[in-house]
Amino acid sequence: MAKVHGDDVIEGLGAIRRRGLMLILSSPSGAGKTTISRLLLEKDENLEMSVSATTRQKRPGEVEGVDYHFVDPTTFNLKVNRREFLEYAKVFGNYYGTPREPVEAALQAGRDVLFDIDWQGTQQVIENARSDAVTVFILPPSTKELERRLNTRAQDPADVVANRMAKAADEMSHYTEYDYIIVNLDLGWSVAEVQAILAAERLKRQRLVGLGDFVKRLREGQ
Ligand code: 5GP
Repeated sequence: MAKVHGDDVIEGLGAIRRRGLMLILSSPSGAGKTTISRLLLEKDENLEMSVSATTRQKRPGEVEGVDYHFVDPTTFNLKVNRREFLEYAKVFGNYYGTPREPVEAALQAGRDVLFDIDWQGTQQVIENARSDAVTVFILPPSTKELERRLNTRAQDPADVVANRMAKAADEMSHYTEYDYIIVNLDLGWSVAEVQAILAAERLKRQRLVGLGDFVKRLREGQ
């Protein structure tokens, strides 16, 4: 598991290690979640992205195994039946699911996992693994800005953009189900805010393994 503090602090006292956490980011599309995720991953070497499986078509520039595992509906169904997903949901007419195995391996090893999943998936993760989940909802600064961002994302056809705009209002109603809220007015500031959340959550007593022994030795003057 990853170390919580530097070697100089723990030397001779036994290591305090911690279980990884699941950092879940949700937002209506166009709020800036993808960019925030990319910057977080660049800045934090203990954070890895959960790569979902999806039945939706690959967009230009997307890479199999990096952006998604692109699968057909039959394969997706098979994975559902084999309980290979930590959570799955139908979003905008396509199915999306989080492969369970890589996430469990990462958490065990003390690595943190970043999820870009919707509110339905978040609810399932909370039901199944509340203590490992840290949930963040990202809001756009205004409807006008959301509309502007969706229109400049050229990959999607106009009817898809209109559909997402209509659904954004509905998605945003789920903000009450999240631990933290970020209004993405300034990208750099929003990234710093998520980093602050991560830094604090990593120090939560419940995640620390070996803490009891560490304090015992401290108290015994070792
Ligand atoms: P997109 O098709 O634009 O990549 O993603 C559409 C929506 O699906 C986004 O809101 C994204 O958060 C959500 N999504 C992506 N992967 C998953 C997943 O594995 N599970 C769930 N529940 N939602 C996902």
